[in-house]
Amino acid sequence: MTVVQLENIKKSFAGNEVLKGIDLSVNKSEVVVIMGPSGSGKSTLLRCITYLEEPNEGIIRVGQRSLIAGEKLNKGRKSIISEIRKNTGFVFQQFNLFPHKTAIENVMEGPIVIKKMQREKARKLAESLLEKVGLGERTHHYPSQLSGGQQQRVAIARALSMEPMVMLYDEPTSALDPELVREVLLVMKELAQEGMTMVVVTHEMGFAREVADRIIFMDGGVIVEEGTPEQIFNSPREERTKRFLSKSE
Ligand code: ADP
Ligand code: MG
Repeated sequence: MTVVQLENIKKSFAGNEVLKGIDLSVNKSEVVVIMGPSGSGKSTLLRCITYLEEPNEGIIRVGQRSLIAGEKLNKGRKSIISEIRKNTGFVFQQFNLFPHKTAIENVMEGPIVIKKMQREKARKLAESLLEKVGLGERTHHYPSQLSGGQQQRVAIARALSMEPMVMLYDEPTSALDPELVREVLLVMKELAQEGMTMVVVTHEMGFAREVADRIIFMDGGVIVEEGTPEQIFNSPREERTKRFLSKSE
């Protein structure tokens, strides 16, 4: 079953085309890692999936909902975008927690406000999710009282609270001190093993090798090459992929 399908996605900023026709489909329980140099369009691609950026062209489907870019007349367009967002958990490089809310309040917010879940039920759900990401003892801490790795794990719990069909991660460990990277990758790996569908932009080669089902190498707004970690790391076909990997390792 395909959870995310992108067809011919194009996106320009002020005449500068940064996505040049991307096709991608992600199956249920698949872990897709996107790698590529800075500026290659990785973040823009993730943002297009949830319409944080509107593509200029192409079709986006998440679950049963699909949108054709540019078609202002798409019936119920607004509600389709909000359905897509509900079904998509987004984890950013900067954790983007509400600073004036505790960990548990951050996690309860989505279920209460967006899903209209009853407060007590939302609290139970948030407790179990914080437990799951290893923060059962930190539920009443404010973001400023947590390390970067802990804040990012709260952000993951918050994304999970909406029970998304797919989790999108945009360089989730790039802002962290090196000693905090592992605890976040470990949580992501556990979720992957439980069957969560995920698309992960990361430079963490170890994670990509170990956890990815498929690696996509992007450069200049196109998918240059894709394959299993084995193929991409051990026998990349394209010159650009080889160059990128030799610089990163
Ligand atoms: P990556 O995540 O691979 O580093 P991005 O998707 O962030 O790449 O950016 C791809 C290109 O698009 C870059 O040249 C960047 O400057 C440009 N870009 C991204 N977002 C915007 C924006 N909101 N306005 C103008 N240019 C943008
Ligand atoms: Mg980026």
